[in-house]
Amino acid sequence: MANLLIIGAGGVGRVATFKAAMNTQSFEKITLASRTKSKCDAIANDIKEKLGVEVDTYRVDADNVDETAKLIKKVGADIVLNVALPYQDLTIMDACLKAGADYVDTANYEHPDEAKFEYKLQWAKDEEFKNAKKMALLGSGFDPGVTNVFVAYAAQYLFDEIEYVDILDCNAGDHGYPFATNFNPEINIREITQKGKYYENGEWKVIEPMSIKMDWEYPKVGVYPSYLLYHEELESLVKNFPSIKRIRFFMTFSDKYLKHLEVLQNVGMTDIKPIEICEGCEISPMEFLKKVLPDPASLGERTKGKTNIGCVVEGIKDGKKRKVYLYQICDHECAYKETGAQCVSYTTGVPAMIGAKMIADKKWYKEGVHNMEEFDAKPFLDELNIQGLPWEMIELDTKED
Ligand code: NDP
Repeated sequence: MANLLIIGAGGVGRVATFKAAMNTQSFEKITLASRTKSKCDAIANDIKEKLGVEVDTYRVDADNVDETAKLIKKVGADIVLNVALPYQDLTIMDACLKAGADYVDTANYEHPDEAKFEYKLQWAKDEEFKNAKKMALLGSGFDPGVTNVFVAYAAQYLFDEIEYVDILDCNAGDHGYPFATNFNPEINIREITQKGKYYENGEWKVIEPMSIKMDWEYPKVGVYPSYLLYHEELESLVKNFPSIKRIRFFMTFSDKYLKHLEVLQNVGMTDIKPIEICEGCEISPMEFLKKVLPDPASLGERTKGKTNIGCVVEGIKDGKKRKVYLYQICDHECAYKETGAQCVSYTTGVPAMIGAKMIADKKWYKEGVHNMEEFDAKPFLDELNIQGLPWEMIELDTKED
């Protein structure tokens, strides 16, 4: 049993808190804290009404290490689940070290002034976590998160050696708006306007944004145009599975979405460098854009359709080639009915809670800073089936490309 502090009251925070409240056998006390306390209160009230579970709420500025450490100590948290923004990863990790708590997040650190995400600064805290006899679990969302565990499962249980991995992320949901992002607009747009990157034969290949496209058939969802992007789990998977010869990440985007994005980029609305808009008043165009776009948390009740996120893994088993497809299908309307949030928040919040549960139940525990694929995949995948994200696996023809 653990005392859990969740930081961040957006769509993902809502789902993670709901799911923690459905697992009181693992979490004896749950606290939700964020920059805006009223958002925490709204979630806590919904949980009280639907599940009859009490969630304490606090305001915290997670950019401030001392303030966050003080809160961790005050509520007596054993585990801190960071579902605020990637900008807060390092300060919340430092607060955990200061207050003596384990740490879990869903996205790797990014500096607010530079759209570049990498694990370097978080991995550098490994010694400190080891010395403090605490654990940090990085990237416990869906992608990264479940995708890392799918690859680990393939390596641990299905293959003698894995060689090729394609991670395929499809959101076939429709919210009816001409343009909106399904999670934090700033983080989402920063991710997809970067150059694409994938790993092949020992080197990273960099491509122009959205310049590699394929039509992929997502089981039970359909054929969707899918674009190669750089995604953070590629970095840790290449490090932890050196047998990988090639690993790529693809995500679906509609023509309508890409058209809007192109125009926004062309007129400079996706720039992150602040500009002066009146005397003494500066704002980055991206920050402004975030304010005028629909709040992702409000998309839930309008979104219909499904997501399908999974991994195609190819390798060698008993001297023969083998290719499998592990995937999970989530229905937007079902996710909303259960938690008040759509699939993008649901498929992140559920594994975020499971990551914390793995630590609370001591099914995964290793001092230091770790990625998801460093642990036994099976108990995590069993929990996915129990907690609302059942997954499937099919064998593919090894001749297929
Ligand atoms: P939202 O923007 O909806 O929510 C973020 C929350 O964090 C808000 O409540 C915000 O407060 C709070 N917050 C921001 N800054 C601070 C701060 N300094 N101190 C305290 N709280 C703060 O984001 P999402 O819920 O959509 O996403 C949450 C996280 O999940 C992000 O890091 C995102 O990258 C990650 N994610 C991971 C995925 C995966 O599969 N691995 C997929 C999707 C998302 P306020 O309300 O005041 O703004």
